[in-house]
Amino acid sequence: MHVEVRGLNKKFGDFQAVRDVEFAIGKGQLIGLLGPSGGGKTSILRMLAGLEKPDSGDILFHGRRVNDLPPQERGIGFVFQNYALFKHMTVADNIAFGLQVKKWPKPKIKERIAELVELTGLAGFEKRFPHQLSGGQRQRVAFARALAPEPQLLLLDEPFAAIDAKIRHELRSWLREMIDRLGITSIFVTHDQDEAIEVADEIMIISKGKVEQKGTPWEIYKNPQTPFVASFIGESTVIEDIASLKGFEAAASWPGTKGLIRPEYIEVGKENEFILLSATEAGRVSHVHFRGSEWLVEVQVGEIKLVTYRSLEKKVLQPGEEVRVLVHRAYLFNDNDNWVMENK
Ligand code: ATP
Repeated sequence: MHVEVRGLNKKFGDFQAVRDVEFAIGKGQLIGLLGPSGGGKTSILRMLAGLEKPDSGDILFHGRRVNDLPPQERGIGFVFQNYALFKHMTVADNIAFGLQVKKWPKPKIKERIAELVELTGLAGFEKRFPHQLSGGQRQRVAFARALAPEPQLLLLDEPFAAIDAKIRHELRSWLREMIDRLGITSIFVTHDQDEAIEVADEIMIISKGKVEQKGTPWEIYKNPQTPFVASFIGESTVIEDIASLKGFEAAASWPGTKGLIRPEYIEVGKENEFILLSATEAGRVSHVHFRGSEWLVEVQVGEIKLVTYRSLEKKVLQPGEEVRVLVHRAYLFNDNDNWVMENK
């Protein structure tokens, strides 16, 4: 289903939870809504679902305005973190529930249950009750139940938040595969940037009720439009006065230019590791942390704390050690936090 939202606004009392939100989602896309708590992600989802009425704006499915359609007529499936299964019903009955409400004929319901237990890897578990399942299996039942009535849009609100890290990882790739197979347009809310990057075709960064940026994970990583967006995808350090850093003196001609530096733009090491020592700054290691495939090194350069990675083959740096620091590139932002350019 093609989904379009125009000029969407929602206030709760005096509080503007969603402001002028606009976006379009192509059929079969998986979109991640990512942003800080209270930013308005769930409110957007609830308006799409018809559980909340917008103050203004239009919601269009397939180009048709659905603002006045009740939730059950919108062709939507939900999986919410706390959208608990019916405890007294078996897996099969949980899946069948929505179909019985819609008065599907019995043989068709049976057929649909068989398809869904297959799809969700729950074959053989049909007669179990929710308490006889693991967290990951329960969440797959929730997916099966949401998918049973053949919705055209799937809304997922933090679907993996309550699940162990390892299983969450498996469920993410499972979700991605399943959605590719079904070709169902899906929107999911998450707090977790890794989850958004790994699963979503496109990410919308939502903050203070607004869409800060929409794009593929790579586009957002590569071209963050504001320091806030950059801080939400990948690691970075914002430097208030980038012109004070060696190599970035030219930024002084744009007064107040902030610089945003990704870890991979920085090299840190002993003097003998640099060919052009005059291009480096003096720094002191403040923290070193083993990350599995590399070291994370925090280094203090004057007032500025920078974060970077160092490969395992190189000599281990110790906290307190004097080092040299080379910054290759930075994103430059003006006083209004608008992206100016990528320097160097
Ligand atoms: P989280 O990630 O914590 O779920 P969110 O980005 O999904 O946050 P929303 O749940 O959409 O944010 O909430 C946005 C703002 O609107 C919050 O400040 C919240 O307190 C407020 N809000 C949401 N629903 C209501 C309501 N029914 N009544 C009053 N305020 C509400």
